[in-house]
Amino acid sequence: MPESHVQSRSSSSFADAARGVVAMAHFAGERHWVPATSGNFSVRIDGRLAAVTASGADKARLTEGEVIEAEISGPKHPRASAEAPLHLARYAADAAVGAVAHIHTLPATVLSRRHEAAGVLRLEGWELLKAFSGIQTHETALDVPIVPNDQDTDRLAALVEERLKVSGPAYGYLIAGHGLYVWGASAKDAIRHMEAFDFLLTAQLHEEAAR
Ligand SMILES: [Zn+2]
Repeated sequence: MPESHVQSRSSSSFADAARGVVAMAHFAGERHWVPATSGNFSVRIDGRLAAVTASGADKARLTEGEVIEAEISGPKHPRASAEAPLHLARYAADAAVGAVAHIHTLPATVLSRRHEAAGVLRLEGWELLKAFSGIQTHETALDVPIVPNDQDTDRLAALVEERLKVSGPAYGYLIAGHGLYVWGASAKDAIRHMEAFDFLLTAQLHEEAAR
């Protein structure tokens, strides 16, 4: 195969991945889940590369030019956001992860602090748990890990991956006082999982307030 062919195939997968990143960012931005340029989004390109939002971009108005191509296990990209290691560590740890979203929703942020000491938030008995790939019934419990916040995101990513190795099946985790990380096999799955988490965490917050 001529080299130009290989290159165009690789850049078209970057373009596909970048479109997925933009779709996730706009979905979250429209719902006010990424206030004040917070949040970030990524889509795996292949075993070595991922498309990731650049640092500082307004996610609600994100364009494909604000998406960078980052090496999953390589040196840090100069325009990568500080939280890129948390995305890349997910791709390195689990080949089934095809897209990662990080959002700062109000219920996620409040509940992550309330349950920080327990290290986990249990979501149980809700019909919408079935929105997660692989869950077939509401008669289940999903334990969402909670890790303490840390500005050293390489250290935080290592802690998260240690926790995920021993937790049950997870679709996301909370960082205390900070927000939520969610993933899926594709950008479409990650969008559905973001929406499910937002609904479930909102329901949980209301239920706890009513107790
Ligand atoms: Zn954040």
